[in-house]
Amino acid sequence: MTAAHTYLVRTYLDWNATAPLRPEARAAMIAALGLVGNPSSVHAEGRAARSLIEDAREKVAALVGASPADVVFTSGATEANVAVMAGGWSTIFVADIEHESVLHAAKASRARIVEIPVDARGVIDSGTIADAVLCAPEALGRALLTLQMANNETGIVNPVADVAAFARAHGIATHTDAVQACGRMIVDVRSLSVDYLSLSAHKLGGPKGVGALILRAGAALPNLLLGGGQERRRRAGTENVAGIAGFGVAADMARRDIANIHRQRALRDRIEHQLRVTSPDAVIVGHDVERLANTTCVALPGAAAETLLIKLDLAGIAVSAGSACSSGKVGASHVLRAMGIAPDLARAAIRISIGPTTTDADIGRFIDTWTTITRTAAKAA
Ligand code: PMP
Repeated sequence: MTAAHTYLVRTYLDWNATAPLRPEARAAMIAALGLVGNPSSVHAEGRAARSLIEDAREKVAALVGASPADVVFTSGATEANVAVMAGGWSTIFVADIEHESVLHAAKASRARIVEIPVDARGVIDSGTIADAVLCAPEALGRALLTLQMANNETGIVNPVADVAAFARAHGIATHTDAVQACGRMIVDVRSLSVDYLSLSAHKLGGPKGVGALILRAGAALPNLLLGGGQERRRRAGTENVAGIAGFGVAADMARRDIANIHRQRALRDRIEHQLRVTSPDAVIVGHDVERLANTTCVALPGAAAETLLIKLDLAGIAVSAGSACSSGKVGASHVLRAMGIAPDLARAAIRISIGPTTTDADIGRFIDTWTTITRTAAKAA
């Protein structure tokens, strides 16, 4: 990269891909890296490391209303999702807008997969699930239903509590991927009444490579990794003490951020209001249903998302085309396809996602840059 391409001011609007590490989480991690003990050792050094992990466990549990004993630390939400899908189910009901880690792991399992389609609004309708379940109830066997709380590309929120209550009444276990919802809306494992819930630290301002699987008391879980007795024998291996310490601090702060989520909503709404003025034909995906306050997914007919993304990047602004996990792939996102959005329009979609430290100036910079880019493109056409 030459000096001409180095920007002093960057505007980061890709929080759903990953959130900046919170300075407090970084400080906790640096302090933890200075500890010498193995958390399984009984001496003072070991106990100091253990106490960091247990403190973090309490904070992560508090974020989702769980009991600390029901928190299993993992290497991220991918591991948590994959572990649940690999739980030896006979049938898995899976929404077609789930994250790839859920979709691929469900398909790789031996279970019979029943894909539940979203409606054109991007929401899983409780009635569709009821139809799928009641179609052949005797053939279900040991069944799991997995439904994400909020989508990473569109921010669209699903009625997880209703669906889980229905599933429970029919003897079906439930899992929710709450990675994007946590810290942006209240996520309470008791009122959701799910058996399994996946979390990722790096979407909350914690480090990458750490996550958790939250279990409903008594929910069955095969050992995630065999070996030593860590994580109550559920996941062997010496714990990532620094990562877990950073996760704990981030979870605690994310829980408090929810009270100020209206600030993010106002900033996001400002972007959408301005886009409607500058680009009246732009489609705002999911604008008419419940969405996360921090996310907007916009498709400008005739545009190419990759081109827009590069132009914004060169102007110092980071956004994403579809999900970060699929970047590098050319093709419409499976989420937008599932909603029935035409491939050409889906290929024009970019995601702008913000967070607790996004400022008015960031939004102003995005709006000015978008206006310049789209006007220049319109003149050239
Ligand atoms: N689920 C969702 C909805 C996500 O957005 C992500 C991250 N892209 C994951 C799961 C995977 O999380 P991790 O990066 O911690 O493996």
